[in-house]
Amino acid sequence: MADNQTRSRCIEVLEYARGLAKDQLDLTDCPHHGYYAAGSGVCRECSEQYECEWLFRTDQSADLHHKPDDALISAVEFAVHYIGGFTVAANHTSSTCQCGNCTWLREAQGVLDGAQD
Ligand SMILES: [Zn+2]
Repeated sequence: MADNQTRSRCIEVLEYARGLAKDQLDLTDCPHHGYYAAGSGVCRECSEQYECEWLFRTDQSADLHHKPDDALISAVEFAVHYIGGFTVAANHTSSTCQCGNCTWLREAQGVLDGAQD
């Protein structure tokens, strides 16, 4: 069971990753305007379905403060993989780089490590 401080930090780090993911999603051809629809064939075929579903699950309206610990933690884990993909693609050394994404990665990893106790 994660304590309240860990939960708040999960929600904090998710906020940054959500901002970045929203900027990256290309919704030009999305008939749902970015509202993920679990039963939709369009969503199942979409190349951005994982990011989109994750955004949907972590939306403010999803009420993160009342999600179970494991849902919060797996949302942060997804975010770490997601942002980690950008830093790898950009050849950043995320352990030492001072850019926003790498700094975020270290912080999010710290939150995850704290949540495993
Ligand atoms: Zn970096």
